[in-house]
Amino acid sequence: MPVTIGALRERAPGETRVSLVPEIADKLAATNVRVLLERGAGISAQFPDAGFKKVEWADDGDSILASADVLLTVQPLSIEQIQQLKPGAVVVGFMQAYSHVKEVQALRDRKITSFAMELIPRISRAQSMDALSSQAAVAGYKAVLIAADTLDRFLPMLTTAAGTIRPAQVLIVGVGVAGLQAIATARRLGAVVEAYDVRSATREQVKSLGAKFVDTGVSAEGTGGYARELTEDEKRKQQEVLDGRIAVADAVITTASVPGRRAPRIITRAAVERMKAGAVIIDIAAESGGNCELTQPGQVVEHHGVKIVGPVNLAAQLAFHASEMYARNLYNFLKSAITKDGSLAIDWQDEVFAQSCLTHAGEIKHEPTRKLVEAT
Ligand code: NAD
Repeated sequence: MPVTIGALRERAPGETRVSLVPEIADKLAATNVRVLLERGAGISAQFPDAGFKKVEWADDGDSILASADVLLTVQPLSIEQIQQLKPGAVVVGFMQAYSHVKEVQALRDRKITSFAMELIPRISRAQSMDALSSQAAVAGYKAVLIAADTLDRFLPMLTTAAGTIRPAQVLIVGVGVAGLQAIATARRLGAVVEAYDVRSATREQVKSLGAKFVDTGVSAEGTGGYARELTEDEKRKQQEVLDGRIAVADAVITTASVPGRRAPRIITRAAVERMKAGAVIIDIAAESGGNCELTQPGQVVEHHGVKIVGPVNLAAQLAFHASEMYARNLYNFLKSAITKDGSLAIDWQDEVFAQSCLTHAGEIKHEPTRKLVEAT
């Protein structure tokens, strides 16, 4: 039986992205499923209704919640929305379980099958589904633009009749997906770029992008390519070298995070006070606690002439391309589960489905989330 795949206008404040774009709606329709979209769902991402040719329309979200067999989302659903879901429905999107415990409980209790895009294993085969990466790339790019816009100086070197302007010094801390994109963007804008990460594997990546690697002598490779938490001694050693580089930077972009933990504190108040007047810090880790001691999520803090910007949901500031990439991630995830006649058949032996499943058949399948829910 062909399933109905639905997508809503996102309700979370500040969320401009949409989970379905015309290109992907067409591809889904070609797999014989029914695609049901809420009117106006894509407008804030510049995808007007007229661009969707092969979908059916719903005037409100309620009817989509009540009839979708598979619901595609960007942000987690609210408890009220979860209560309205069709029995046996499948929800795919970012679930942010650590901050949405009650919603996870509701998904479990309503026996909804939910897949969290952030839990998709980062294996080669799943790269095209990796929404953490696609959205982090957007954030890294946008952070540099915010830095350029906040600074009262040029990024590139300029040779003009009024003399030569020296290029800005940009320091990128944390060289994951966002950090790499930030390096590339700052380089394209002509800045002199340095970068630092605790994982020594990033040294070559930094160099290949034409930036200089800051060597603190600390290496902290964790499991699965992620960083581990540093010891107190390592933190001190890292701090000394980094503080020196922070002090000479015009712009610092911080992207450091450790999965499942609060973002590491890397820039102290004292380090900010040693920075040049007019320098800026763009702290992409603002939402998970911030890499700078003075960061306030969603705000610009000024301290000793230094502006500390704590952007939240940066991907939503580039909603068109962020939505396009995200919708492709969703499609690449789902397509193997759609059969020729447009019905849904999830292969639970496939690690991509097994590991990204948050709730199924009345149980929380993701162990850390189950423990978190039980402890609250
Ligand atoms: P992330 O968002 O978890 O963290 C950002 C960066 O911060 C990481 O590079 C991390 O090493 C760094 N960091 C953590 N603590 C730090 C500290 N105290 N000081 C400085 N830097 C610190 O990272 P991410 O972008 O999600 O990438 C994490 C890993 O996953 C990387 O190894 C990346 O190459 C890998 N990855 C693999 C795939 C794939 O194979 N499909 C896709 C994307 C990313």
